[in-house]
Amino acid sequence: MSRLGKTTLTIKEFDAYAKINSSTVTRRFGKWNTVIKSVGGELNNTFYSEEELMENIKNAWLKKGTQPTRRDMDSKEYSTITSGTYLRHYKTWYGALEEFVKYISRDENNVIKEDQSTKNNHIIHKTKRDPSDRLKVQVLMRDGNRCRICGVECSGGLHNIHFDHIVPWSKGGETVLDNLQVLCSACNEAKGNV
Ligand SMILES: [Zn+2]
Repeated sequence: MSRLGKTTLTIKEFDAYAKINSSTVTRRFGKWNTVIKSVGGELNNTFYSEEELMENIKNAWLKKGTQPTRRDMDSKEYSTITSGTYLRHYKTWYGALEEFVKYISRDENNVIKEDQSTKNNHIIHKTKRDPSDRLKVQVLMRDGNRCRICGVECSGGLHNIHFDHIVPWSKGGETVLDNLQVLCSACNEAKGNV
């Protein structure tokens, strides 16, 4: 019944996420368990963990190819959680984005264990070849959601964006923030043909 796999809400959780206080509810409904029985299912539908809220912004960012606006969050094309939910948690859309920047910068998540390293032409890599979604958003943010060569904005969605290894992967370049750049299709192709 719940996105979090929870079957019930505690009073503390309720108070943290609901606008009305649990004591108001228990005055009206009696025991907390009765409250849960009658409205618990509906409450759980609006209960999102911080990680779910942040992952949803990450997905919207990658689907759009650039920073999503508050309005984008109400579009099913980009988001499964509405802007209203973000405003309840973070007061403003800007506040949600500020939190997101912290969340996405926490780690690169692309480093692999030594025993999983890829040996390719005697080159041993410490990272996976493909950047993680988290790393992709970090690169987009740093490059201002624009192609680093021609400056075109990456608003056409992820299929138009290339995460280019500055030092090529085949020459030992790693998949880390410093060695990645945003390129549009045209610039990526041109670079490949040189
Ligand atoms: Zn370009």
